[in-house]
Amino acid sequence: MMIPVLKGSIESTVPSVFIQRLKQIYTAMDHAYDRAANNYGFTCDGCRDNCCRTRFYHHTLIEYAYLKEGLMTLKPEMQDQIKLRAMTVSDATEKTHDNQEAVRLMCPLNFAARCILYPYRPMICRLHGIPHELKKPGQQSIMGPGCETFNRRCGHKRYFHFERTPFYFDMAKLEQEVKQALGFKKKFKMSISQMILDFHS
Ligand code: SF4
Repeated sequence: MMIPVLKGSIESTVPSVFIQRLKQIYTAMDHAYDRAANNYGFTCDGCRDNCCRTRFYHHTLIEYAYLKEGLMTLKPEMQDQIKLRAMTVSDATEKTHDNQEAVRLMCPLNFAARCILYPYRPMICRLHGIPHELKKPGQQSIMGPGCETFNRRCGHKRYFHFERTPFYFDMAKLEQEVKQALGFKKKFKMSISQMILDFHS
């Protein structure tokens, strides 16, 4: 299910000032995440569930562009290997979708339990795992749970306030400006595998 096919060229048209703002948002969210994780004494090391097997969708062109920037820093042989992995994931996902089966396939960027594009990983990869709050405009705050590993290791500990709202807000504002600057009017929704295949299309 490849939604908007961008032909892999969008990153060259995204002004660098937007990428700088994205990096600032990422830094702020990483700090907030680390504060919460440190408070609980939580680390992802040795996680048997591995959230990199979760099929997350990503919703911003700016993150697409930045992930591609990261991919381009890798050697061509590695890029080819990642493309093959993305094709395998994509095919397997389609098959299981046809059979209406649940699927947990490893992200093509995960090598030996590590993200090969860690500094470039999208927002949801950065925020996943820790209990949090999110407040949509005009609505009450909603609590989001931690991942299974968090619950097993730290679920008994007292909640540490972790607010995702300002990050979602800043990201939405940035994305709106990026789309406006590029004249991009469609909705954006892609998995990592879909993005990688799209980079090469
Ligand atoms: S982009 Fe990196 S952190 Fe995110 S799912 Fe893939 S390997 Fe994991």
